[in-house]
Amino acid sequence: MPTEETGYDPTLGRKFIFVTGGVMSGLGKGITAASTGRLLANAGFDVTAVKIDPYLNVDAGTMNPYQHGEVYVLKDGGEVDLDLGNYERFLGVDMTSDHNVTTGKVYKTVIERERGGDYLGNTVQVIPHITDDIKRRIREAAEGTDVCIVEIGGTVGDIEGMPYLEALRQFAHEEDEEDLLFTHVTLVPYSKNGEQKTKPTQHSVKELRSIGLQPDILVGRSEEQLDPSTKEKIALFCDVPTDAVFSNADVEDIYHVPLMVEEEGLDAYVMERLGLTEEALPAAERDDRWRRLVTRERTGEVDIALVGKYDLEDAYMSVHEALKHAGLERGVEVNVRWVDSDEMTADGDPSGEHAERLRDCDGVVVPGGFGSRGTEGKVEAIRYAREHDVPFLGLCLGFQMAVVEHARNVLGLSGAHSAEIDPDTPHPVIDLLPEQTDEADMGGTMRLGAHETAIEPGTLAHDVYGDDSCVERHRHRYEVNPTYIERLEASGLTFSGRAGRRMEIVERDEHPYFLGTQFHPEFRSRPDRASPPFVGLLDAVLDESDPRDEGESGEEVTV
Ligand code: GLN
Repeated sequence: MPTEETGYDPTLGRKFIFVTGGVMSGLGKGITAASTGRLLANAGFDVTAVKIDPYLNVDAGTMNPYQHGEVYVLKDGGEVDLDLGNYERFLGVDMTSDHNVTTGKVYKTVIERERGGDYLGNTVQVIPHITDDIKRRIREAAEGTDVCIVEIGGTVGDIEGMPYLEALRQFAHEEDEEDLLFTHVTLVPYSKNGEQKTKPTQHSVKELRSIGLQPDILVGRSEEQLDPSTKEKIALFCDVPTDAVFSNADVEDIYHVPLMVEEEGLDAYVMERLGLTEEALPAAERDDRWRRLVTRERTGEVDIALVGKYDLEDAYMSVHEALKHAGLERGVEVNVRWVDSDEMTADGDPSGEHAERLRDCDGVVVPGGFGSRGTEGKVEAIRYAREHDVPFLGLCLGFQMAVVEHARNVLGLSGAHSAEIDPDTPHPVIDLLPEQTDEADMGGTMRLGAHETAIEPGTLAHDVYGDDSCVERHRHRYEVNPTYIERLEASGLTFSGRAGRRMEIVERDEHPYFLGTQFHPEFRSRPDRASPPFVGLLDAVLDESDPRDEGESGEEVTV
């Protein structure tokens, strides 16, 4: 029950959906949760999400994207887990760093408070001090919304996750039963003879119950929909009604998960359990833009090369999604062709399998990155796009390498490079600004989050954005070196977007579409609000080739 000391105000009417995972990680519980959220938003509710990452890092900023997937950047500059990107894209909301709770953040706060003498001589402990801070963070992030989805990373039973599950147990104790829902997502594997096995689910629910948590809803991830007998078995052993057991089968495109979840009736069940049915918009009045968008017929397909370091494709998740969104906007299928920059040679023409793949593509994207590995391959890919009039989009490091490529091969500044990658380059066309190096402290400071760029009228960038300015998210340290700008511009480049002394957008005068951005437009791209530079790239490709459908003209591709 709500109590005074919890600070909970029952009049706010907030509802919480807690999502835990069992058996193994990587089941896509975030997508299941985000899809449920999308459906609640379609029904007229204000939905937000909190992702809990039980690791000790304070944020994801220092984590290697080739091990953990991309570092997603929020408008406030928060460097967060890529799941937040999925929540922003599915829910259509902008979040802040407060929506990514990590063990590092929680302990940092509690330890700082302890040092500040806030605990009045008490022993500072996991329970109640850590758990109180966890609950406070969840409640604050939920403020002002109708429903808050809270996803706990990892699986039940992980040591790191224990304080969070204990905090959830307390939550259940403190709030009205009608305001909380516990959803547990587990794996339902198949036996050799094709039978769906529920034992792992039973074990993981047992584990959950031993901590004092009883799930209200079970979602079984499996290749196919759960058989009715599987659902009954899970219901019986896990103590939930059969109609509280849902399947989440494999789909080719994650944007179809909300449609599948709706078909299963998960959203209807959630609304009923949370007492939201009456407030929900009637079915006929619900927002069906998502469905229309993702089931839209495609009139052709295009192949776009994404030139990066491919230890893990998730490292480029938002770029991949932004390309998909541009495809949704233009009604074409975008096939992303992974081209490994490590595999490309720096001497002369690209050669080998990856270079060939590059040559087969209609457009080239060079995404962001750090460090020297693969940069020469990226420069080669850019050179190829420039020399062959292939539509090109460079993002952050891709923008910087476009400047390097031009300096070397057009302006003839041999050995030109970014000082980040070659500190001894004779021509540091990309460098820290003098004011960054002057102040010792500033040298390593990353420029993060949303910043405004002024766009020069009459340029490609202005056509693309249709505006005199844009606000996009950043994550970089290095800049175009001001001492080279005049020479770069006199030889065929235009810096059409600027923020004071910082060059933000570059384009080529003589090229069908050659655009580079120091910012990361992919982080603002949404299925129903495709990012302008990505749509521009697609338009240039479609202009060149007419919607390509491999000779079978007129045949429409449906998803
Ligand atoms: N490494 C480059 C910089 O720090 C580019 C960063 C990026 O691509 N996100 O400026």
